[in-house]
Amino acid sequence: MCVVNLFEDGKDEIYDEIFSRIREIDNEFSLDKKNSDLYRINSRAFVEPVTVGDDVFSLLQFSLSLSKITDGAFDISVQPLVYLWNINSKSPHVASQEEINKLLPLVDYKNIVINADNKSVRFLKEGMGLDFGGIAKGFTADELVKICEKHKVRRAVIDLGGNIYVYGEKTKGKKWNVGIKNPEYPDSAPLIKVSLPQNSVVTSGIYERFFDAGEKRYHHIFSPFNGRPVENELSSVTVICKNSMLADGLTTAFFVLGEKRSLELIPKLVSTFNEPIAAIFITKNHEIKFSRRFPFVRSVLYKNWKIKQVYE
Ligand code: ADP
Ligand code: MG
Repeated sequence: MCVVNLFEDGKDEIYDEIFSRIREIDNEFSLDKKNSDLYRINSRAFVEPVTVGDDVFSLLQFSLSLSKITDGAFDISVQPLVYLWNINSKSPHVASQEEINKLLPLVDYKNIVINADNKSVRFLKEGMGLDFGGIAKGFTADELVKICEKHKVRRAVIDLGGNIYVYGEKTKGKKWNVGIKNPEYPDSAPLIKVSLPQNSVVTSGIYERFFDAGEKRYHHIFSPFNGRPVENELSSVTVICKNSMLADGLTTAFFVLGEKRSLELIPKLVSTFNEPIAAIFITKNHEIKFSRRFPFVRSVLYKNWKIKQVYE
């Protein structure tokens, strides 16, 4: 799903530019279109360095920096696991330990070698593959913001599904209101309302893509360390910052790291990426935890949820 509203500056040619940019990015990152950059990487990068376009190269570089700072919690080389479990498809598969053991050595961002001189990428192990599903929407949102800036659009809402960008000023001096879903009733009224100036608000939840097998629910964020869908106390993670690519990558990383380690990491992320980062963790046992010095006005719209600003 993808909705863009440019309000009073919504000229046809700007919408056209926006949607052709979305299509372009989709094509570059497609896992199954035979001449997409990503397809060429995944089928050839072990055999020889594969040269890619600016979009894929810059997202590759950024993803690797995020892997480093999250100690490998965010890792685009999870592709073999994504493929094995096939959670996003109609026929998902509960992987056996043996299958996982076979693929796990292929999941390690340190085996992705990039060369900025000729914008190429190479794999050190046969069978490796990349998947940008945890960050591509954020990259796209930032690219659309650039188009808005270029055309001096005054205000816009970009909604790429779980990935919202509120741009410019809602009305003179007014903040935007963004709803954060109730993980238990994602199609009902939001659980939290946050009022904020221009920002990206990205949420990853275990309700988004999952399948049930027996007693267990498997969802689509993997631990690169044990090769399984992450199992912890979290049911959704929201990250708010100006850089949507960062926010998107972090929602995925924070799921893997869990709430405590994520909160410990935030100060380092803020100084490395040089921008304010706020987060909301919603747990399976109805707790809502806001990160340290959460700077925005917020209200919780359901009763019976425990609100904690634990780290302040
Ligand atoms: P979405 O908003 O589309 O649900 P998320 O930001 O929650 O996406 O990321 C989930 C996707 O990221 C998965 O479908 C998979 O493609 C990819 N992914 C899963 N685990 C990881 C991980 N540990 N690091 C990087 N990407 C991951
Ligand atoms: Mg993400």
